[in-house]
Amino acid sequence: MPLRETEAIVLRTYRLAEADKIASLFTRQMGRLRAVATGARRTKSRYGAALEPLSHVRVLIFEREHRDLLRMNSAELIESFFDMQKDYRIQLAAQYVAEVAERMIPEREVNERLFRLFLAVLRSLKHSGEVNRPLLYFDYWLLRLAGFLPDFEHCQNCGRALGDEGGYYGPGSEGLNCETCRTGVIGQSISSQVIAALRAGCQKPLERWISEEMAPPGCREARRFLEELIETHAERKLVTRAMMEEAV
Ligand SMILES: [Zn+2]
Repeated sequence: MPLRETEAIVLRTYRLAEADKIASLFTRQMGRLRAVATGARRTKSRYGAALEPLSHVRVLIFEREHRDLLRMNSAELIESFFDMQKDYRIQLAAQYVAEVAERMIPEREVNERLFRLFLAVLRSLKHSGEVNRPLLYFDYWLLRLAGFLPDFEHCQNCGRALGDEGGYYGPGSEGLNCETCRTGVIGQSISSQVIAALRAGCQKPLERWISEEMAPPGCREARRFLEELIETHAERKLVTRAMMEEAV
């Protein structure tokens, strides 16, 4: 049976039996998967801090034929994103990123660009202390790489150009509606200026966008819009999105 080495981001862990954990991982070379870490719940576990949420690690994965669950042989910490989570806003943002990953990334599908996006977003949460732009960037590129990014310039219902007034969205939206196609459910509006600023920012490397420019107005508003689209495609309510509503 092959033993494979890969980099990974720990999305979360949960208990299995008395001494073991299951780690949900987004790996660079094997895609998203779950693996059993034997003995990880012991006080003096050989995994140490490597299995903390959002840790960037190097793991050895043991593939077993005809078994769904893989086994982790070792995990070595490359970069920790643990201390930044003492800030509650950053902690929620990090948990949101992990929850969206578990819902949206297909299992065992390698996606190098998405892996690099993850690291860039975690590093900017860690170093900038800002929440809106890293999350906005994460949502935008996740939607784009998944092929879910909508046409921001036209009504998703009638196809009319939205123009300066922008568009409307609400629960279940996959894009924007015009004033005429706005229904009772669709309640939030987003202006064309905010959309333009979000698209311009997301074309740059995240680190540069944050270090070289002030956040444009409407980042939080734009983030809320993209979160709505993500939730539509995740096909269920995101726990962390509701938690961020008031705090972030
Ligand atoms: Zn319309």
